[in-house]
Amino acid sequence: MKNISVIGSGTMGNGIAHVFAQFGFEVSLVDIKQEFLDKAIAKISKNMDRQVAKEILSETDKEAALSRIHTFTSLAKGVEKADLVVEAATENMELKLDIFRQLDQASPDSAILASNTSSISITKIAAVTNRPTQVIGMHFMNPVPVMKLIEVIRGYATSDETTQKIMSLSKELKKIPVDVNDYPGFVANRILMPMINEAIYTLYEGVAGVEEIDTVMKLGMAHPMGPLQLADFIGLDVCLSILKVLHEGFGNPKYAPCPLLVNMVEAGYKGVKTGEGFYSYTAGNKDLVLAPRFKK
Ligand code: NAD
Repeated sequence: MKNISVIGSGTMGNGIAHVFAQFGFEVSLVDIKQEFLDKAIAKISKNMDRQVAKEILSETDKEAALSRIHTFTSLAKGVEKADLVVEAATENMELKLDIFRQLDQASPDSAILASNTSSISITKIAAVTNRPTQVIGMHFMNPVPVMKLIEVIRGYATSDETTQKIMSLSKELKKIPVDVNDYPGFVANRILMPMINEAIYTLYEGVAGVEEIDTVMKLGMAHPMGPLQLADFIGLDVCLSILKVLHEGFGNPKYAPCPLLVNMVEAGYKGVKTGEGFYSYTAGNKDLVLAPRFKK
């Protein structure tokens, strides 16, 4: 594989483009507006500067990697030479199904179509294409240049050959791929989201405060970040929508989102991205500050 197309240049898409370019692949990065693409290139350049400072990359490697990334606002043009497409557009089922219909039409017949979705069924996405054996999940973790894991998700129809190709490609990116089957939440979110939800229930029921819950999990379980801080970082709206996928997908009440989480999302307290969730966030302040409403 040589030519990789990445659809969506947001948080994950720019990280995915960064890593492929870093390891020598030609990257076509696609988004709906040129200004989003320009922002993504600036972000990649800044993140590569960090790698230069840490001597992971040389200045020459950085320039060469950046020159391998080409930007497109036309999806059809951006995928016409693709050996692999990695879709990292907004997490919305209808949008993704529409993108995969277009990818199936516009990319070479031999291309593998992967999605970085956190929670949408790969089997369902594959079913709107004429190549379901070549559709797979490639679930990178945030921040992509730093995190080692790729959850490789086999849809019901994904072939062994497609899976093997993606497993070995992931190793070329110096990542550690893990082969999992397509059921709601895959493995990462199937385990993580119930833990976050339980932490929110623990707070909601008054068993302990925000800092106490996070401290127990950090010091007691050696987690680098407590579950409530992690939920703020992921986005409380994202956590809620993944819990809904688990709840609906399994029909099991144990996945029902905590009413406190639902209220916070409905009121617009979504964590880091809105400046307040369980903690408060102000630009330039790296200290962890408890949100006023959770002060005792
Ligand atoms: P984001 O909102 O930062 O970026 C999404 C990008 O997709 C935007 O730039 C948007 O303009 C673009 N886009 C929307 N419609 C498009 C279209 N038709 N064609 C091309 N581009 C289009 O979102 P994100 O956080 O990068 O998430 C992207 C995907 O990655 C989602 O499926 C999400 O579930 C998954 N994911 C996110 C994380 C995370 O921590 N953020 C982690 C793992 C997986």
